[in-house]
Amino acid sequence: MKIIITVVCTWLSIFPVYTQATQASGKQIALIFDEGPVPGKTESLLKQLESLQITATFFPIGREMEKFPDQTQAIIAAGHQLGNHSYSHMDLAQMSLSSAKEEIKKTCRLLQRHGYIDKPMFLPPFGRISEELGTLLQDQNFKIAHWDLDPSQHLQQGDIQAAADYLSKNAKHGSVVLLHPMYDQYHQVIEALPLINAQLKAAGFHFVTLEQLTAD
Ligand SMILES: [Zn+2]
Repeated sequence: MKIIITVVCTWLSIFPVYTQATQASGKQIALIFDEGPVPGKTESLLKQLESLQITATFFPIGREMEKFPDQTQAIIAAGHQLGNHSYSHMDLAQMSLSSAKEEIKKTCRLLQRHGYIDKPMFLPPFGRISEELGTLLQDQNFKIAHWDLDPSQHLQQGDIQAAADYLSKNAKHGSVVLLHPMYDQYHQVIEALPLINAQLKAAGFHFVTLEQLTAD
């Protein structure tokens, strides 16, 4: 597996292929947790995910992984998937190609240093990526993560029930939900997760990692 990462983290070249759910029995849905890790918040979130029996995908920022190796390690140890979300969380679509490549490479190296041996998926900061970079990433067989459901607006307003209802109403097999538990929406996400979990499981969904959702 390490060999695969080395290949992925060097560069060659075609078009962004976004992650797509494969056919599987039952309805699958993935939660992705954007940014961090933040000490304290990461541990609480991991504890909650364990109690709700949810496996998820984390996209920490490279620079923060460097600052907080213990929290990064704890995410891996808890069995969640980790992905590449760039080193400094700048808008890569506005950067030179070489700087954008460096952002991703540096984060790949960090993931490896943390012992993360699976092939990382890439979630572009702000969901933006230039065609040129997308082409390069695709040629490296990078899967580019994206999401179709984002309950931030309801969470920002503190309306936990509306967030859960929005997800139950719009979720389908293969949906990817973006959540921001590391900074200003921490309390709302922590409060909303049990309700989201209950409503989606009652609707027949299973929580899986992005890798499981898109497995061949
Ligand atoms: Zn982000």
